[in-house]
Amino acid sequence: MINIPFNKPFLTGRETEYIRQAVEFGKLSGNGEFTQRCQNYFEQRYGFGRCLLTTSCTDALEMAALLCQLEPGDEVIVPSYTFVSTALAFVRVGAKVVFADSCTNNPNLDTEALEALVTPRTKVIVPVHYAGVACDMDAVMNVARCHNLMVVEDAAQAIDSYYKGRPLGSIGHLAAFSFHETKNIIAGEGGMLVINDPALVARAEIIWEKGTNRAEFFRGEANKYGWVDIGSSFLPSELTAAFLWAQIEQLGAIQARRQALWQHYSERLAPLAASGQFELPTIPDYATNNAHMFYLVCHSLDERSNLIARLKAAGVLAVFHYLCLHRSPYYASHHDGRPLPNCDRYEDCLVRLPMYYELTFDDIDFICKNCANHDL
Ligand SMILES: *Cc1c(COP(=O)(O)O)cnc(C)c1O
Repeated sequence: MINIPFNKPFLTGRETEYIRQAVEFGKLSGNGEFTQRCQNYFEQRYGFGRCLLTTSCTDALEMAALLCQLEPGDEVIVPSYTFVSTALAFVRVGAKVVFADSCTNNPNLDTEALEALVTPRTKVIVPVHYAGVACDMDAVMNVARCHNLMVVEDAAQAIDSYYKGRPLGSIGHLAAFSFHETKNIIAGEGGMLVINDPALVARAEIIWEKGTNRAEFFRGEANKYGWVDIGSSFLPSELTAAFLWAQIEQLGAIQARRQALWQHYSERLAPLAASGQFELPTIPDYATNNAHMFYLVCHSLDERSNLIARLKAAGVLAVFHYLCLHRSPYYASHHDGRPLPNCDRYEDCLVRLPMYYELTFDDIDFICKNCANHDL
């Protein structure tokens, strides 16, 4: 029996009250009062360009892919060790995905090997801030500037995290966040597109509203609205935004709690890491830690399987993470065959420990005690 789950969605307590308010306002579809409150919050708090709530981070990435105006055969550089959506959004618009390997000391894309992946067909780089820890964004932006490429940050896990003092999601031309129930702040399913390049804002609003200039019309900037471009229904209803608003109000408390839990894990596991049982996550000097995730890197698939089994026997659910996309059934035949050894290693050896607001220090002590492999 599992006594300590891997994740438990945290409710601040005001979600249903705000949903009731949204119902009473009498406007349930998207882009109403709560949507605008959430969007304004992110724009002001983090200095993001225009923010548009979406029904998921996947949708935000799909909007980003449409905004990049790719032609069939154009290339997009994506880490292989990531969630399917990072690549899928670009494959759907006909682009070819070129996979990047991860760093040796963390799962983010290896920027030292980035420039070698650029060809005359390359149009976009998609850095993923794994575990909410920043990629080396100066290196990414330099390669992008030299080759005139767009940068779309997959910041799904990276709310309230920073690179050299700059909020993640504020650096690329575009950025995508997730409010899926597994992330730090949640809306069930939900996401957000950040448009930092002012030249893309008008078109983003149109794509968001089914290819119409409805957003412009509602601001009183057009006297009628109609079909002006491609798009889809990317905006969530007010019910989702009302839920998210209750989470945003508690963002500070949520982050403080998660960081305290993360710190406790790190202190408790340090002796086991020092004795060579596994590696702890490394946070580069340029990055902050938003405590989205606590992971370990074991020495082998066998050692990881044993660790997961040991924890499971103790009633603790620990889980591995991504299956590399360059070897996925859908895309392996399109991959150019380059080995990506670091991605392979994280697929085999990385394990995530329980991390959620209501986890206790006692839970962590119990988990860490069971992480010890007495055979090693
Ligand atoms: C969660 C996640 C996504 C997908 O987010 P959804 O909101 O579920 O669509 C995409 N990329 C990364 C890196 C993620 O962690």
